[in-house]
Amino acid sequence: MDGAIALDIDMIEVSSYSECRTCQCPLTVKHILVECVDLKDVQNKHFVASSIKDLFDNIEAHKIIDFIKETRFYKQL
Ligand SMILES: [Zn+2]
Repeated sequence: MDGAIALDIDMIEVSSYSECRTCQCPLTVKHILVECVDLKDVQNKHFVASSIKDLFDNIEAHKIIDFIKETRFYKQL
């Protein structure tokens, strides 16, 4: 279960992201999911996590995937 989610997220990162335009730093999975201030508002609609470990331990996978889908759409506007 966890392995499958991590694989999905890795594929999304490689195919869609390179650098965060707001923070000017590498767009890693960790940055998107817990660090990015630009995505905070969108993130808070789906879940609240204090760290990447907190996120994977406590947040349901579909919420994480829904958030990523919304951020991709958001970035394309
Ligand atoms: Zn950022």
